[in-house]
Amino acid sequence: MTPTRWAAPVMLVGLACGGGDGNQTPVTPGTPRVSPKELRGLEVTLARNDLRVGQVTGPALAYGRYDDGTTGVVEGAWTSSDPSVVEVADDGTLTGVAVGRATVSASFEEFGDSLELEVLEPNPRHDRDQPDDLAGPQVHAVYALPSDAEDGNLDRHGDIERSFEAIQRWLEGEIGKRLRLDTAGGRLDVTFLRLPFTSEEGEERGAPLVEDLEGAIRDRFGAPPGKAYAVYYAGRSGDLCGSAAAEGGVAVAFVHPEGCSPQAVGVGRETASTYEVVMVHGLLHVFGAVPECASDRLETSAHVGTRVEDLMYAGPEWSGHDEVAIDPERDNYFGHGRADCPDTAAGEFWEPVTGAGPRLAGANPPPPVIPSEDWPVRCGLLPVPAEADESETPSP
Ligand SMILES: [Zn+2]
Repeated sequence: MTPTRWAAPVMLVGLACGGGDGNQTPVTPGTPRVSPKELRGLEVTLARNDLRVGQVTGPALAYGRYDDGTTGVVEGAWTSSDPSVVEVADDGTLTGVAVGRATVSASFEEFGDSLELEVLEPNPRHDRDQPDDLAGPQVHAVYALPSDAEDGNLDRHGDIERSFEAIQRWLEGEIGKRLRLDTAGGRLDVTFLRLPFTSEEGEERGAPLVEDLEGAIRDRFGAPPGKAYAVYYAGRSGDLCGSAAAEGGVAVAFVHPEGCSPQAVGVGRETASTYEVVMVHGLLHVFGAVPECASDRLETSAHVGTRVEDLMYAGPEWSGHDEVAIDPERDNYFGHGRADCPDTAAGEFWEPVTGAGPRLAGANPPPPVIPSEDWPVRCGLLPVPAEADESETPSP
């Protein structure tokens, strides 16, 4: 049992690369190995330590640790201490069966490791905005499904909550601010929204799909002042990952394994991934990014065209960055402080990170871990339809 077990998204990358712990045995190039590498230990990883009744997650992975410093996934034999609480399949896939705790173990050769899991009741489902804990501007989460889409329970199983936990940790470290989120009774208020159109109809709509979603949001919630909506839409729109109806205050992530990405929403509460990055991209559009006065703004859309690691990048080149930053030079759309240009850092949907926060001082939150094929964000606002009436706007 190691205390770092739950940092799994980062650990997985590190382990899968077999590097980083500095104890590799030096090997002279060209020298054949005299003996095969020897297994020294086993470590079980999963990106979480809880699941909900009825939820299927995983698979948990068993990593063998070898004497040459490398690691690799092994086909361990899995068992659950209490299959009436957690079932584990031969491949490590886990199913929450009933509320309780159980230990899931893997063994391989003479080694073994285990993890403890807690199974919780699913969250209650809400069709309406619950009474707000906070007054004032706030971001409200929505789980929206086409009429025929399979219910993935992203609200009831806590995936959207975890997604926002990861978003908040990332933002705290990246910009020193958090989103003002709509909570009810201390928990993220997620509204379930079954839509009046099918998945296929949604996909055939193309770019105007985001307008349909904006309309459905307005039908359900009215137009209360000071609310922005973060919509996890369980469907695809081509291969897009996100979009926004900026005027309507709606940011959308198109959650679909063949459309945007097979990454899970809220894959880890510690670490943001594809859909978390997509959601913040969309919310920044809602908050006014990238303004026309920004020096690096593309002529054709509200994105920047220079630094490839920028969250709002949509330029022509992509050179394989695996990092993402929010206006890293603070000169385009966040934190520039110019009086003559909108600054999303001054928006009312942020709250400062207080010292009383749950994070330990000095503990840097991990940066997002995004598969390279999911980056940069494929955004429905690119390219923007011709803005003919703005052709005379000077843009230094
Ligand atoms: Zn965009």
